[in-house]
Amino acid sequence: MSRGLDIPTLLAAEAGSALMSALLMSVSPGVRGAPGAREAMLASWALALAFVLQLLRGTLPEPAAVLGANAAMLVGTGFVFESYRRFNDPSRTDRRSLKASVALVIVFAGLLATGASYTARAVFMSVSLFVFLFGGARELMRDDGVRREPSRLIGVSLTMLTGAALVLRVGLLLLGPPPDPDLLAPSLERSIAFFPATVMVQGVGLGFLVMLRDRGEAKALALATTDALTGCLNRRALEQQLERDLLLPPGQRPPLGVVLVDLDHFKAVNDGHGHATGDLVLKHTARVLQGAVRASDVVARLGGEEFCVVFRGADARRSAELADRLRLALATPVEGAPPSLRATASFGVTCFHPSRDEPWDSVFRRADEALYRAKALGRNRVEVAEPG
Ligand code: GH3
Ligand code: MG
Ligand code: MG
Repeated sequence: MSRGLDIPTLLAAEAGSALMSALLMSVSPGVRGAPGAREAMLASWALALAFVLQLLRGTLPEPAAVLGANAAMLVGTGFVFESYRRFNDPSRTDRRSLKASVALVIVFAGLLATGASYTARAVFMSVSLFVFLFGGARELMRDDGVRREPSRLIGVSLTMLTGAALVLRVGLLLLGPPPDPDLLAPSLERSIAFFPATVMVQGVGLGFLVMLRDRGEAKALALATTDALTGCLNRRALEQQLERDLLLPPGQRPPLGVVLVDLDHFKAVNDGHGHATGDLVLKHTARVLQGAVRASDVVARLGGEEFCVVFRGADARRSAELADRLRLALATPVEGAPPSLRATASFGVTCFHPSRDEPWDSVFRRADEALYRAKALGRNRVEVAEPG
């Protein structure tokens, strides 16, 4: 009994959607140069070709159409795997999947030449495609990738869905009724083989574009919130973080200690050793500060040679003790700089008022006054200003 979707209609829809994907990938600005994008575009073109060739069976000489369609399918799916692999890790450029696709095409040609049955060829194709798709989904999930970039779930679920359909198809081929010799006749087995491919084509086209967009947004956010030289948060990001802390009323939030750090005689470092060495001292300072605080604390570069550390859960006195540890830790050798060079800094410490709402400006001013005092009293020291 013939059941299932109308195969030529299905193939035409697939060819159309693969061509749409391929065109979109080819003309989208921002796609070029992105890791895995070229492979995703090639995958879309190869899959479109595979569907067109399937559709033309009966019009083209049979062995050429069969070999061409299946070869394009294997190469296209190999590129799906490769695009996900490179999206995950741009350094992997060994073309492993392309070599695997070529080897599989040769095996498929061998099957055709030796007159293997439709069932044998279809099982071979389904298993090969499944391995590529499964591998692609695994790549996207690797290294916590889905948690970092949830849009990867689109690619994962669409490839998994297609993979599951292929397993079902193999079951039908091996256990179901013998296939209809007319390959474009309605058939459950071929509906199952081709329908999910429509979905997969969207995964590698539109899904890939969404993944790229999300990654671009994450990069833009990182650029807007971090300082390029030291990797610390910048002033704007620090203020945003503080805004979140200050949402709770004063009595209910943990103490927030604020420490301003200003390198001592930094101009002399620049003048005596050069600006590049000055930059090394700034990086050293950032590394020391970041390495000495807890993950819940915040280290930001306010500009020039001024940093700010916010200790969550520490009042002014406790923050001053912690600041003194930072002061001692700074006096270690600066990587890449002359061994005699030692950086020191002065520290102005205060905290947000424990029982009343206080604007950041006023806390900042108090910390700055303490810092000024530390400078005036000889530098390389910590001064505290308790909230009044
Ligand atoms: P004080 O102990 O009073 O703080 O003296 P100082 O020399 O550290 O302070 P001053 O404000 O006079 O000089 C700060 C110097 O920081 C001047 C400026 O050239 C330098 N500076 C600011 N930003 C950068 C930077 O990104 N890289 C380098 N190498 N130097 C910078
Ligand atoms: Mg300064
Ligand atoms: Mg200074």
